[in-house]
Amino acid sequence: DIDIPEDHPRYESLLTRHRIEDGVDKGITSRQGLIAQGRGETFDYLLGERTIPSAAAAERAAAAYLLLAEHPVLSVNGNVAALVPGELVELAEATGADLEVNLFNRTEARMQAIVDHLREHGADEVKGLTADGRIPGLSHERAKVDSDGIGDADVVLVPLEDGDRAEALAAMGKVELVVDLNPMSRSAQSATVPIVDNIVRAVPNITRHARELATASREELQRIVDEFDRDEALAAAEQAIREGGED
Ligand code: ATP
Ligand code: MG
Repeated sequence: DIDIPEDHPRYESLLTRHRIEDGVDKGITSRQGLIAQGRGETFDYLLGERTIPSAAAAERAAAAYLLLAEHPVLSVNGNVAALVPGELVELAEATGADLEVNLFNRTEARMQAIVDHLREHGADEVKGLTADGRIPGLSHERAKVDSDGIGDADVVLVPLEDGDRAEALAAMGKVELVVDLNPMSRSAQSATVPIVDNIVRAVPNITRHARELATASREELQRIVDEFDRDEALAAAEQAIREGGED
């Protein structure tokens, strides 16, 4: 095990990295996931490892979309399961969303390990194992979803999603809430709501907004959704990276 001094200037980042390593050891996270984490860390470093204001607005809009949804689903991959399992269960509870495991490199063993891991963190039902639905336009293994899960969802939160699949889900007409630290990735670019923030900050922030908005009227939620401008949010994130800018 590791021992990171709490006063280390990059304590959070090192802790996050260790959780991904742990995920690989437990069979939850793929080795590819280590590379994805490295990419993410790079952007987070450039953003100042903080939630920039445009991301905070995106997180509030995401909460409003989840509360307005008829059938919201939170998609979980190996990195997300390693980093924020309990936080995802809380977000599902706060918004009435389903949880569905959705892997880029799908293996039954990893699917089951993630389902078990989420259950250990308090989830009762976790979808993804049935895999009786398909996303049009993707090759067989990568197209699999549950027909009563992501297949039926009107709003999907897809953190750290592969660009191809993010585009295919958007083409199905689903409202896509994407958490991705790279505002230039195809996933962020195809999102209805791009959330350019670390998943470890984004999920608790969305949950907090959802709880605050629990008693809001549909009109108020709709206004929050309408006022959010995805292109502006992407531009603000890119500017923050280029100039260390946005405050
Ligand atoms: P795309 O295919 O969408 O153009 P990509 O190939 O760069 O992008 P992948 O490597 O497939 O993307 O997926 C990793 C993505 O997830 C990267 O964009 C990375 O910035 C992001 N990412 C990794 N870790 C985190 C994290 N902890 N929080 C938020 N985003 C993250
Ligand atoms: Mg990719």
